[in-house]
Amino acid sequence: MDTFLKKAITLDKTDHLAHFKNYFENDPAMIYLDGNSLGKLPLKTIETTSNIVNNQWGKRLIRSWNENWMDLSGDIAKKIAQIVGAQPDEIFVGDTTSINLYKLLFASLSIQKDKTEIITDDLNFPTDLYIIQGLINQQFKNHTLKVLKSENEIFMDDLKIKSSLNTKTAVITLSLVSYKSSFLYNMETVNNLAHKNNSLVIWDVSHAAGATTIKLNETNADMAVGCTYKYLNGGPGAPAFLYVRKDLQEKLNNPIWSWFAHKNPFDFDSNFVENPGIQKFAISTPSILSLGAIAPGLDVILEAGIKNLQTKSNNQSEFLIELIQHYLVPLGFKMVSPLNNKQRGSHIAIEHPESYRINLAMINPINKKEKVVIPDFRPPSFIRIGITPLYTTYLDLYEAVIRIVEIVKTKEYAAFSTTKLKVT
Ligand SMILES: *Cc1c(COP(=O)(O)O)cnc(C)c1O
Repeated sequence: MDTFLKKAITLDKTDHLAHFKNYFENDPAMIYLDGNSLGKLPLKTIETTSNIVNNQWGKRLIRSWNENWMDLSGDIAKKIAQIVGAQPDEIFVGDTTSINLYKLLFASLSIQKDKTEIITDDLNFPTDLYIIQGLINQQFKNHTLKVLKSENEIFMDDLKIKSSLNTKTAVITLSLVSYKSSFLYNMETVNNLAHKNNSLVIWDVSHAAGATTIKLNETNADMAVGCTYKYLNGGPGAPAFLYVRKDLQEKLNNPIWSWFAHKNPFDFDSNFVENPGIQKFAISTPSILSLGAIAPGLDVILEAGIKNLQTKSNNQSEFLIELIQHYLVPLGFKMVSPLNNKQRGSHIAIEHPESYRINLAMINPINKKEKVVIPDFRPPSFIRIGITPLYTTYLDLYEAVIRIVEIVKTKEYAAFSTTKLKVT
């Protein structure tokens, strides 16, 4: 037997988290390696959402606001707080990552009128860059944006952050884990550098939460945003979250005044009085159906333990890197993600000139007896292989790599068009 196959089987056998894959909907004919984009469905979510629809909405109707729904967002905030290393009253759950970034960035710039520079980098997710561009274009017209250039869109040196900060820097906002290369910042280092410079930091932890250890309190982080439908398995378009450190909450204001940010929304007062706590960052009636669907996924993560998940993610990443170097590099693939565990999130990007069509061939095997393997493609030519330590097996990684070898060697990808689909 192939030594890598043997190793995969042994590692799965000794994996203490192996049973968690049974908590999720599973298709044995598919290997899912895209949990960093849309997490799998936890089986418990089917029951939870059906209860919300059939009983809470169907039977209890408006009475459910008091019985179940008004506390739902806070209950979920408590769970997320444990996953990102924060206090429950520092987390608000609702809206989307983009909207939450808009609110926090607007608030941060408004309290530092004498500082007119925003710093980010080219590793950041496009929506984050658009939010900054929009705020400068519409509201903060004297502000400028500095986009730090990474090394080959893969890696950022802390020294570059250090030398870019200056007396004009109001905010630095970065993705903790880069969606493309998987580069992972040292949160503490960046927070310290920014604080020494009297600048605020807003982290986007979307690509980290649920698979990477995040210590918002311990590293004295100011603010963060993140989504719940990736490693947190909250379901497509599930509400996002935001974090604001306790002592900053009184200084920052939500740019959108609305009734759920009001101190007493059900007094139906005609004048806005801002809620003093984290709830000030709310806007509207929570989306109960999708909010309720988040809880079961978070419970699985808390049961497995984020530290254990991080360890497994590192071990699986190391195994995958070995496979890539042994099988794929000789076929013309390049390893994109950093090799050091401390500088990498839970997905691995590889590059090949035919990445787009190889990715299509993996998802749509011509021979229907082959397993469907689902990674994703990111331009210009990256295949991202997402490791979700809750349900990815070592055998999945082995089989996926062997499948890529086959597709490249037989040129199976040549049967696919190079025209891009809507969602890649
Ligand atoms: C997925 C992701 C988002 C998504 O933003 P939405 O507003 O929820 O669509 C934002 N930022 C990062 C870093 C992401 O990975």
